[in-house]
Amino acid sequence: MIQKILIANRGEIAVRVMRTCKEMGIRTVAVYSEADRTSRHVSYADEAVCIGLASSQESYLNADKIIKAAKQFKADAIHPGYGFLSENADFARRCKEEGIIFIGPSAESIEAMGDKISARRQMIKAKVPVVPGTSEDLKPRDLFRVCRRIGLPVIIKATAGGGGKGMRLVYEEKQLYEAYEAAKSEARASFGNDSVYIEKYIESPHHIEIQFLGDAHGNVIHLFDRECSVQRRHQKIVEESPSPFIDDKTRQAMGAIAVKAARSIGYVGAGTIEFLVDGDMNFYFLEMNTRLQVEHPITEEVLGVDLVKEQIHIANGKKLRLRQKHLHQRGHAIECRICAEDPENNFAPSPGIIRHIQTPEGIGVRVDSFIYDGYEIPVYYDSMLGKLIVWATSRIYALERMRRVLYEYKITGVKTNIDYLRRIMDTRDFVKGNYTTHFIEDNSKKLQESG
Ligand code: ADP
Repeated sequence: MIQKILIANRGEIAVRVMRTCKEMGIRTVAVYSEADRTSRHVSYADEAVCIGLASSQESYLNADKIIKAAKQFKADAIHPGYGFLSENADFARRCKEEGIIFIGPSAESIEAMGDKISARRQMIKAKVPVVPGTSEDLKPRDLFRVCRRIGLPVIIKATAGGGGKGMRLVYEEKQLYEAYEAAKSEARASFGNDSVYIEKYIESPHHIEIQFLGDAHGNVIHLFDRECSVQRRHQKIVEESPSPFIDDKTRQAMGAIAVKAARSIGYVGAGTIEFLVDGDMNFYFLEMNTRLQVEHPITEEVLGVDLVKEQIHIANGKKLRLRQKHLHQRGHAIECRICAEDPENNFAPSPGIIRHIQTPEGIGVRVDSFIYDGYEIPVYYDSMLGKLIVWATSRIYALERMRRVLYEYKITGVKTNIDYLRRIMDTRDFVKGNYTTHFIEDNSKKLQESG
């Protein structure tokens, strides 16, 4: 049984994982960079160790230092959170070799899903519907032929892609070669791998994902859907569960496919399958994320489940204790990502010292964060300060609650996107639950208007 966990991450997710550990009586070890000495995840942990300089390469991405810390502090397991080493198959393998439990799927599962082409191949084999496209490294000589077969518009994507990088949309054949070269060079710069492939561009899709859990005994369940179509530059900003778009039949079908997909690769742990869903509710596999997602709390709120607790339970080698037939979505949850950024200056990061925070309180509110009065936001990492999550019995009540909570949340000293999020909550299409991944660009003018 796991007694002590090292959390190989920082910020809100490190604190969130530690909170569950505390409830379970598991001791926690924080690792931190020199820039994070004053971070809440350091003071919250039972033990903490500085592992290096501010740059992620020297600290949170440095597998050697993290493993060394785990051994020094005699941690039985490592929780990677999201980002950093969470989807690094070599790191998962190293942990295993060193006799430390990696709280996540096997290195093989991470590898199979980490590369987008290999993931597509696996899913096709498992009879999971994928976006029409190619499943091999695209050569210049095949470019036009493949594109004609699929039909314009298409999207050229980096095989090693992530975070919306290395993608190029092509509407006209004459743009094809240039877009291909651009995607390749961005992929090379971002991932050190210039392999790209091509997908049909789904014109007005929804991004809807299914959470699932698998144990080491071959049991897999799904935990329903999250609608993540409110995106800026392919990055999620607001998520909600259940999706206001899909009907129950589609929801059940997507859940069943997610279970099939996870089972086909012998998945152990918590994972997510992302789908693109078109206007006719056809859904296509986009990618599998082999870790906890930023937006996992909305699933927790709607199902009454602590996903980190289930991850630890699975990592202990136990059988799933949740039964599919007992899982039902109850009420509605919305999450807003709170970022230190300036919406009036093209969302430029706004690091600095937080003067004062007034945190929302009251019924149905959850704040997953790590900031406090006087905290200095380092320039080295993500600009996300935390997440505001609300739950209510219906979507409309959840929306009203989110408006109230965003009104209560006050952060001074740095610029934040709180007002921008409030405007999203007041936008007609969001209120109606009628929006696609183009929502932000379609409403950009309205969302920029301050006041
Ligand atoms: P990344 O791994 O870089 O986040 P994804 O493949 O998950 O990239 O895609 C991110 C977002 O880009 C999706 O949520 C969607 O909005 C858009 N997108 C990706 N592929 C397509 C496609 N074939 N058609 C339309 N939109 C797409």
